[in-house]
Amino acid sequence: MHYISTRGEAPRLDFEETMLAGLARDGGLYVPEKVPQLTAGEIAALAGLPYEEVAFRVIRPFVGESFTGSALERLIDAAYASFGHKARVPLVELDPATFLMELHHGPTLAFKDVAMQLIGRLFDAVLTRRGERVTIVGATSGDTGSAAIEAFRGLPSVDVFILFPEGRVSEVQRRQMTTPAEDNVHAIAIRGDFDDAQALVKGLFNDHAFRDEVGLAGVNSINWARVLAQTVYYFTAAVALGGPHRPVRFVVPTGNFGDIYAGSVARAMGLPVERLVIATNQNDILHRALTTGEYRRGEVRPSISPSMDIQVSSNFERALFEALDRDAAAVRELMAALTEEGGFTIPAPALARLREIYISGAASEEETRATIARIHAETGEIVCPHTAVGLKVAADLPAPEGVPTVALATAHPAKFPDAVEQAIGLRPALPPRMADLFERPERMHVIDNDLAAVRDFIRRNRRG
Ligand SMILES: *Cc1c(COP(=O)(O)O)cnc(C)c1O
Repeated sequence: MHYISTRGEAPRLDFEETMLAGLARDGGLYVPEKVPQLTAGEIAALAGLPYEEVAFRVIRPFVGESFTGSALERLIDAAYASFGHKARVPLVELDPATFLMELHHGPTLAFKDVAMQLIGRLFDAVLTRRGERVTIVGATSGDTGSAAIEAFRGLPSVDVFILFPEGRVSEVQRRQMTTPAEDNVHAIAIRGDFDDAQALVKGLFNDHAFRDEVGLAGVNSINWARVLAQTVYYFTAAVALGGPHRPVRFVVPTGNFGDIYAGSVARAMGLPVERLVIATNQNDILHRALTTGEYRRGEVRPSISPSMDIQVSSNFERALFEALDRDAAAVRELMAALTEEGGFTIPAPALARLREIYISGAASEEETRATIARIHAETGEIVCPHTAVGLKVAADLPAPEGVPTVALATAHPAKFPDAVEQAIGLRPALPPRMADLFERPERMHVIDNDLAAVRDFIRRNRRG
């Protein structure tokens, strides 16, 4: 089992090297050289199995020789034992044709945990076997950083440094990053905004001497292992609703395109998916691209669904690569135009192929709040603003007769209490297992927006 870069100029790697590399050396993203297939019989046999067993059967063909079957099984079991719901990713019926897939029962209450809890353990197993260690550095606007700190806390082969903009993440998000007490995880508040934090991380990765000195690694959403872990729940939901004998539509609140791209991998493996619906907030570059064929970056406008506030969706490059018939030279050309001219036109045949898989819609801030209120009034369910963006788009784009719609609930409403309270006048409570989050002691470091200061901090505080 090997992986190749979407830009065609990086070495072909096996699963564990792909996971440790993150981004390919040529700036591209790794994809499987050949996507493993599941037969209709194998998919049907997933119905009724525990989540962990489905995860094992979906993930196993992608890892090649990197893990034995029993090691992979053990790591998957450990990853999802931290979830606060027996089904791990339960489905809730909103009406006979619409279901909510709750991805927020992990330790930090957002879907990032589904992948991060597993990838933390995969990293540790590989590094321990190789006798290596790495330093993971990332910038976050909230959800990714808390999921990464939670996943890597206490692991002997990994040190983690997460940079976030001081005063610009929610209190729940900050506390999730600052309350873990293990000395291998560090939450760093940068005196600046998210772009400053991200620029500092880029600066660290571009300092090749420092990169080698501390063994820098990244676990952002372009990491193939994260995408792979997310393909699993497309299978569990589809078979619960009559798949593979009946196709299912998925509506996915989308930012960096990682979660929805995982759905396209499930489809490529053989799962009958009617359409994957891209739901964006007012930062609607993807909706505009699907509608007009013009992929062009704009200004980010902060929204009440902040985890989808992006300029450029990194994982979209993987979908383009497939739509361009895996023509790496064509991907390189389009990506160069994105950097140099701020955008590109998707060639017509590729656009047509994208539209066979994806359709799209967008929700304004007002529509998002109105949807939180409508869902609460109609069903009693309280949803987070990201989930509400999906439900608004789902309502605008009904599926064909007989095709159920699964809307992904990407975060727990208690993670975004202010937006929810504005919409329905109620403040959602944290689940009981983290009710003491506001009493736990915090530990964080405030550092100037200064590359040398951050580099210094990492040198002094990493172990080994
Ligand atoms: C990260 C995130 C998203 C967007 O997911 P992508 O994989 O980046 O498209 C949506 N909702 C929530 C709550 C998130 O944390």
